Amino acid sequence: MSRGTGLYVHVPFCRIKCHYCDFACYPGLEDRIGSYVEAVGREWSCYPGDTEVASLYVGGGTPSLLEPGDVHKLAGLLRGRGNWTQLAEATFEVNPGTGGPELWRALRETGFRRISMGVQVMDDALLCAIGRDHGVADVLRTTQELRAEGLSDLSMDLIYGLPGQEPEHWAETLEQVIRLQPPHLSLYSLQIEERTLFGVRAAQGRLEVPDEDRVRTMHDHAVVRLAAAGYRRYEIASWCLPGHESVHNRIYWTHRPFIGLGVGAHSWDGVRRYAHDRSFRTYMADPIPRRDVSPEPDDLSFDTALIMGLRLVEEGVDLEVFTERFGQDPFVVHGKALEGFLAEGLLERHGNCIRLAPEAIPVANGIFSALLRDS
Ligand code: SF4
Repeated sequence: MSRGTGLYVHVPFCRIKCHYCDFACYPGLEDRIGSYVEAVGREWSCYPGDTEVASLYVGGGTPSLLEPGDVHKLAGLLRGRGNWTQLAEATFEVNPGTGGPELWRALRETGFRRISMGVQVMDDALLCAIGRDHGVADVLRTTQELRAEGLSDLSMDLIYGLPGQEPEHWAETLEQVIRLQPPHLSLYSLQIEERTLFGVRAAQGRLEVPDEDRVRTMHDHAVVRLAAAGYRRYEIASWCLPGHESVHNRIYWTHRPFIGLGVGAHSWDGVRRYAHDRSFRTYMADPIPRRDVSPEPDDLSFDTALIMGLRLVEEGVDLEVFTERFGQDPFVVHGKALEGFLAEGLLERHGNCIRLAPEAIPVANGIFSALLRDS
């Protein structure tokens, strides 16, 4: 897919704040959902009427806090503008224990076909310990309800490396998830962010997380077990059954343009990167995007594209295509660093392509930081 833009809509409402979460989401504002949907519509109306939408992703936050009527209103405002004839995917994020059959029907009626669900772990004690307000039974019920509505194109988010999580807990989560057979999985290792409850506890020395070796054991087990279950790892954090790669995320990984609507959302029009403030009040007062600020310098765009491309662990970066698009060969700009990674076996070269070696995937962030430092 090379035409069109990715359209992301951020829904900043959550029932509670999870202990690890640094997203722009705010509990207790659910009574503002209706006016927020209207504000998003006002923002979208600022974009050219012929904007071609290649994919739609409604994320958060907890979009499944919207009522069926809000979903119809949002879909109407979005679809009333732009060119949707090339739309390849429409995803809606759901948290287990929210929504219900009427919401799922509204999603299907408004054209959403892919659901991304924040499962995290299949263990009630761990879910409680990380501040989630759902349990394993909610995951099972929500999955069943979605499938009954014909929404079976499911992606599930999982987290490992949680406080109190042992490799055997993680292995059990994987077994339960594999039994559910979602066509797509996103796996993240826990990152401790400063502005979170876990960040505060960590700063006070009151948070115990699994050490590096145990986190690596969890990662390695997932790699082996998911491959045995028929899942392909096509991106650092993404596994899928055949034919279920994320179309929307591929826009980010291949550095194609995207528009982000809503609180804290980021956009990239191919020349400039711009973002909304994370403040709900600021956005509601003025949802119009400021596209005249934060032009992305060429070198940053080049590096972002290279790093995002390397996230695609199977296909990597095609040097010829990349050079044609960005006007410079990565080996001219980052020759020393890239040659070093090749010599260390962290990068592999296959014809015109470079990609991460399998052993380098768990340490990819270190490689990406080194590339940025080399700029
Ligand atoms: S539900 Fe998701 S977005 Fe909301 S607080 Fe929890 S992790 Fe953050």
